[in-house]
Amino acid sequence: MAEFKVVEKFVSINGEGVRAGQLAVFIRFLGCNLNCNYCDTKWANTDNTAYEVMNEFEIYKYIKDTGVKNVTLTGGEPLFRDYMVVLLRLLGVDESINIEIETNGSVDFSGLLEVCKNISFTMDYKLPDSGMEAYMCLGNMEILRKIDTVKFVSGSIEDLQRTKEIIKQYNLTEKCHIYISPVFGKIDPADIVEFMKDNHMNDVNLQLQLHKFIWSPDKKGV
Ligand code: SF4
Repeated sequence: MAEFKVVEKFVSINGEGVRAGQLAVFIRFLGCNLNCNYCDTKWANTDNTAYEVMNEFEIYKYIKDTGVKNVTLTGGEPLFRDYMVVLLRLLGVDESINIEIETNGSVDFSGLLEVCKNISFTMDYKLPDSGMEAYMCLGNMEILRKIDTVKFVSGSIEDLQRTKEIIKQYNLTEKCHIYISPVFGKIDPADIVEFMKDNHMNDVNLQLQLHKFIWSPDKKGV
């Protein structure tokens, strides 16, 4: 058994990704190895944050008890700790649930593909405005599958230019789902649409984080 530090667990709707708008059960793990300028979950990344220790069987039971089949493992950075593989092995064999791992793009997940055949990755590519682009694990770009997603959280036209370059460089439209989301309050989504039009960005999805519009942008547990 492994022990996981869980800072939040709740049912809400998926705010983004291919199952946006659907119910999902969220498990948020403590800690992150990055420090993005726009991070809206910094509170979950410090050692002072209150957490609950759960083992993989308790997490699985919580998920099943909700009756919700979409599961989002998030943080912080859920892959930051090696023992996450223990939980993924347990969850990955249950084909009645859809598991998605939200990862920040800095952790090499090639070693997890074997246990993640039914588990999708939604991987951020951290753009220049985040201040974290240097930490991206570019090897992940080569192993993305059709069930995976790359998400570009863009705060400026410079970020959008970089998004376009990365999509082209790694031929992402042929490999996986692609989403662009605005950094909330930093760029007008209409400007993203104009950029997409001007640059003929087919097979790319603009996505607004639903929970920021349904609830207060800083609300936890939603
Ligand atoms: S990777 Fe995510 S959780 Fe970590 S600092 Fe960046 S936005 Fe916050």
